[in-house]
Amino acid sequence: MASLSRTELLHYLTNLLSPGEFKDYCENGLQVEGGSEISTIVTGVTACQALLDRAVELNADMVLVHHGYFWKGEPQSLVGMKGRRIRTLIKNDINLVAYHLPLDVHPEFGNNVQLANRLGIEITGGLEAGNPNSVGLVGQFENPISPDELSNRLRSVLNRDALHIEGGPDEISKVAWCTGSADSYIYKALAANVDAFITGEISEPVVHTAREEGIHFYSAGHHATERYGVKSLGEHLAVHFGLEHYFVDIDNPV
Ligand SMILES: [Zn+2]
Repeated sequence: MASLSRTELLHYLTNLLSPGEFKDYCENGLQVEGGSEISTIVTGVTACQALLDRAVELNADMVLVHHGYFWKGEPQSLVGMKGRRIRTLIKNDINLVAYHLPLDVHPEFGNNVQLANRLGIEITGGLEAGNPNSVGLVGQFENPISPDELSNRLRSVLNRDALHIEGGPDEISKVAWCTGSADSYIYKALAANVDAFITGEISEPVVHTAREEGIHFYSAGHHATERYGVKSLGEHLAVHFGLEHYFVDIDNPV
């Protein structure tokens, strides 16, 4: 099994994901320092305790996630859940590396591009007008599909049922999407004049917006829509550097 230094791997990730271009809600990159040589990487959506326990079992040198720690506004003390997680990492010499927005928008490994590839959507542009790093995207299906067909595709890709609020036309050709929690982007989707909007979560007012403004809304799961960016990045690192890689999916119904 190959290995490389943590420094070299982080340098590669910085070049690939350009975290400096983003104003984010957390620190991107190395969040907790472990051993200096990396041969086994575990990837996952969120650095929860179950993911860390699995990483210890797999002898991981690095845990690479989309949702790391130290979010703006959270309590700072390392107590309770937060203390247990950090202790697990440090006791086992495991590096924690997290990329949030950079891993939503990357043109190859980003959550949004990865989801589009799996749903058969051709990307036509960004959802946030004028933002070159738009998290949400706009695209189209090669042939228009029915709203039920989109539900079926989401189920077969994500292995869970999406909540569909019917509001739009009988056929969907133009679509916008934003992985994770972005239900308020329904207004950006309406401005983009699409037939349907897909995101991970939903709140009560959005149901009425979809019905009354005439758009299909799909709440397909925050976790489910954000599995594929970090997974594809881990697979890439495994091939590129000859590292051992395990994607660990800790089930989350939201
Ligand atoms: Zn997220």
